[in-house]
Amino acid sequence: MIRVIFLGPPGAGKGTQAAVLSKDFEVPHISTGDILRSAVADKTDLGTKAESYMNAGELVPDDLILDLIRERLGQKDADKGWILDGFPRNVSQANFLDKLLAEIEQPCECVLNLEVPDKVLISRLLARGRKDDNEEVIRHRLEVYRQQTEPLIEFFRSRQQLVSINGHQPMDSVASDLTQVLQA
Ligand code: AMP
Repeated sequence: MIRVIFLGPPGAGKGTQAAVLSKDFEVPHISTGDILRSAVADKTDLGTKAESYMNAGELVPDDLILDLIRERLGQKDADKGWILDGFPRNVSQANFLDKLLAEIEQPCECVLNLEVPDKVLISRLLARGRKDDNEEVIRHRLEVYRQQTEPLIEFFRSRQQLVSINGHQPMDSVASDLTQVLQA
């Protein structure tokens, strides 16, 4: 059983690696970005509210995200562990998660921080070609990451929860580094 949070800038490979670990450790991969994209595709109330923020590379307001996470972690399959990808994204989400995990008695074991140089991120994101992956929006997403998400590195490091991994390696090497950390 594992309960881990993936941290790292857009394009670091969080989604790819979370999917690998989810399969190997048989725990759900919970990606707030995936949940939001499917809400947009399904034209739900959440999707309609979130879409313009996502297209602009802004974070969706916390009040749209927090209930969603509470509800998702309360589902049966999350009893046996989880991998969070894309949440928390700012300090207030991290504080919310802290309280929530204490309340539902699901402590997080570690925070995996994927490190990748900026130049590599931009070329990876451009190659991916998602709707929010044009150069202008990519640059803005990186800025939002620096301002709002990067402070979480120190937040988790100061609590001795942070493990940084070199994400600028072939996919399999990153996966094996991550597996080593989790089996330690
Ligand atoms: P991602 O797939 O994680 O890169 O997320 C894509 C987009 O969804 C982001 O650029 C945000 O607009 C939105 N998003 C995903 N997760 C969150 C979150 N935890 N808080 C706010 N917005 C989010």
